[in-house]
Amino acid sequence: MDNRINDISAIDREFVFHPSTHLAQFERGEIPNRIMSGGSGVYVRDRDGLESLDAFAGLYCVNIGYGRTEVADAIYAQAQKLAYYHAYVGHSNEQVINLSERIIRSAGMNMSKVYYGLSGSDANETNLKIVRYYNNVLGRPEKKKVISRHRAYHGSGLMTGSLTGLQAFHNAFDLPMEGILHTACPHYWRYAQAGETELDFSQRLADELEALILAQGPETIAAFIGEPVLGTGGIVPPPEGYWTAIQAVLRKYDILLIADEVVTAFGRTGQYFGSHTYGIEPDIITIAKGLTSAYLPLSGSIIGKKVWDVLVEGNDRLGPFGHGWTYSSHPVCAAAANANLDIVDGEDLTGNAARTGAYFQRRLRETFTDHPLVGEVRGVGLMAALEFATGKDRRDSFDPNLKIGPRVSAAALEHGMIARAMPQGDILGFAPPLVITEAEVDRIVEMTLAAVNHVTETL
Ligand code: PMP
Repeated sequence: MDNRINDISAIDREFVFHPSTHLAQFERGEIPNRIMSGGSGVYVRDRDGLESLDAFAGLYCVNIGYGRTEVADAIYAQAQKLAYYHAYVGHSNEQVINLSERIIRSAGMNMSKVYYGLSGSDANETNLKIVRYYNNVLGRPEKKKVISRHRAYHGSGLMTGSLTGLQAFHNAFDLPMEGILHTACPHYWRYAQAGETELDFSQRLADELEALILAQGPETIAAFIGEPVLGTGGIVPPPEGYWTAIQAVLRKYDILLIADEVVTAFGRTGQYFGSHTYGIEPDIITIAKGLTSAYLPLSGSIIGKKVWDVLVEGNDRLGPFGHGWTYSSHPVCAAAANANLDIVDGEDLTGNAARTGAYFQRRLRETFTDHPLVGEVRGVGLMAALEFATGKDRRDSFDPNLKIGPRVSAAALEHGMIARAMPQGDILGFAPPLVITEAEVDRIVEMTLAAVNHVTETL
């Protein structure tokens, strides 16, 4: 028998194709593989018994924390009762019906229906198709382009990867595809001009958006997509007045707004939806991650009444809405979502994100605002970032070859904590489970300080 059979880590290297990974470095063993085996609350464990405080909740998704048996029990019960039936042509199941009603009622904002997929990427793909169908019904075949933003993250497919505004997701895949445009990233600290207030900056970005729309022709622009708080691009809350100014431009040219709330929905910003926090009035909302806390995959496209009415009106002429996944409305995933949302609501995790989030934001600012390695401390609710910078007033980027962000993240892991080196820039991201306590926040701040100090000493 092959003697590697006992070395599960060698088998992993031989047979598993890991996403978002430098494949050659992984094959050469330069990237360690960590085989996760268990978790409880805000802690995850690997096979070697090493436990880490997961200050990124997996990929900002395990909002109720690890090891919640209520969700496991609900999954088991539904799988025994009805593991699967499709949702095509009027079929449904009780779990998805209950789930849809609670999502629509909690969203408000004139939302009307929920369409289900399994990932944030496929939900945004659905949204792009709905936007096309909508404009075809309205007899506007030219109105098809979609504007996203530099540093956005909306998925990894061909079209959704095009919406994403990060080099690493475009290079070598010939992206972006035609019809996807990018406008400015609303990061005030990084991109504001000298003397510009946040309000001025927001207005300038709205003016730039308007100039792009006019240059392309408003009759060609169908939709704008944005995360209420930019996530993977660096955890950047919008500057004051940003969403107000952007929405005014979109309304002027009859452009739909898609709020990608894959990260922000279900409490993370301290309100149920990020759109509630920032006064966004979207036409379509993308949800995933916190919908099930990732106990099973499930995503959704929440469709506003304005769009829904047009889809219905056009059906007689254009034919049925010919878009469906085998796993749309999956009953077991919906059962996981209902059990998850029972915990989110029952334990008021949104309120905890507001209260413990405020404590977290204060502790981070007290500890790092004057740190010589830190240029900016930012965040809202239970999402936050430290951006490392150099120079006289700590505004200059480090040489990317120094890999400051990944080094701080690695040092944090040594101290017992997972915080994510964001893929672009020297940024350490935090998005802990929403069940986190003040004592655990203190641990995060302590371990982060140790890690940042460690890297500072090596410079
Ligand atoms: N939108 C946003 C805002 C995201 O953060 C992500 C994933 N991080 C996605 C979409 C894509 O979701 P998935 O990885 O489930 O396809």
